[in-house]
Amino acid sequence: MSSGPAPVTHATSSAAVLDVIRGAGIISRVDLTRATGLTGATISTVVRRLIDNGLVLETGRAESTGGKPAVLLSLDPDARYAVGVHLDHAGITYVLANLGGAIVGRWRRPGAGTDAPDVVVARIAAEVTTLVAQTGVDPDRIVGLGVVSPGPLTGSAGMSLTPPVMQAWTDFPVPEALGAATGMPVMLENDATAAAVGEYWATSHEASACFATLYMGTGIGAGIMANGDIFRGASGNTGEIGHICVDIDGPACWCGGQGCIEALAGPAASVAAARDAGVDLPGIGTAEDFAALTRAALAGPGPAADIVARSARYVALAAQALANILDLDRVVLTGPSFAYAASLYVPAVRAQLDRAFFSRSSHPIDVVISAHAAEAAAVGGAALVLQSELAPRASSARVPSRAR
Ligand SMILES: [Zn+2]
Repeated sequence: MSSGPAPVTHATSSAAVLDVIRGAGIISRVDLTRATGLTGATISTVVRRLIDNGLVLETGRAESTGGKPAVLLSLDPDARYAVGVHLDHAGITYVLANLGGAIVGRWRRPGAGTDAPDVVVARIAAEVTTLVAQTGVDPDRIVGLGVVSPGPLTGSAGMSLTPPVMQAWTDFPVPEALGAATGMPVMLENDATAAAVGEYWATSHEASACFATLYMGTGIGAGIMANGDIFRGASGNTGEIGHICVDIDGPACWCGGQGCIEALAGPAASVAAARDAGVDLPGIGTAEDFAALTRAALAGPGPAADIVARSARYVALAAQALANILDLDRVVLTGPSFAYAASLYVPAVRAQLDRAFFSRSSHPIDVVISAHAAEAAAVGGAALVLQSELAPRASSARVPSRAR
């Protein structure tokens, strides 16, 4: 439970109350008053409305401390759901998450590949319908769909810079097309930022004041969250720590820079180095090859272990830069590439921050692996919709696109 009033960052008192109940798990009305800074009368009215809307349940009574024992409140996790879709050329990951952020259904399907965007959008709509039917969830309880893209975002239009294989998606209006195909409100977000919202939504408030997700899929990025507010910058493309230059004479990077951390030590660079060193890789794509490389590294000393250890030192530098700029209290490693290799990267990041995090004498900094690392982007897509629809923040810059 919070020790003082939460910062006034929610769009409405109802949003603030729902978010505090979610973060606390179980809480009384009195403690809600303390945690939100709202009056008892306001809490009473808002809680009544949340109960009438089916979002909140009375779950029992606290132990008596002399007077009448307080009634305890919690979310009804089955009251609402959201769909998360991680769209990538190599695979599309679907999750159906409940109000508490728990996954109740998941599905991995073939990726967008080189198919035309409108063909892929029609398939996504059909696959979402199938997933929902398989879970038995009432479609009327689904508040929307969050789609997470592989490329940088351009306003509400879509992806501005896509992997070469997905060039057809450049400026394709993903939210509008998916909204029309599914009939649901659709939000679009980048993978690292979505993953940060997913971490926030599925964990308690007190875990962190300011944290970042370090996301490694085929690239390296970060999502930044302070007191439950996502930091989006001017266009939703924050946290591009893979493109910090650590060698001004280093190799050219696809972003236009050179000597970037991603170009020196991202999954594609590590796979290329492994191939040059004779490590046996399947050669079917960066994600699969990187998974094979980390398996070889985990098997024992040798070139694979050396290459991954070197990558981990660069990732640790990225984490240190981010932690120093933002004064973080927690770094969460997430994304499919860390899912394979957490035991190789977490110790390296922890050691670097123990040694060189600027604020280490002021406060500790946690380094952890996400519970949903492999599906973090899809889980985050669903969490983004739940937060936006049910507990919107006053500062939220991105308004969901709705089907017209
Ligand atoms: Zn770069």
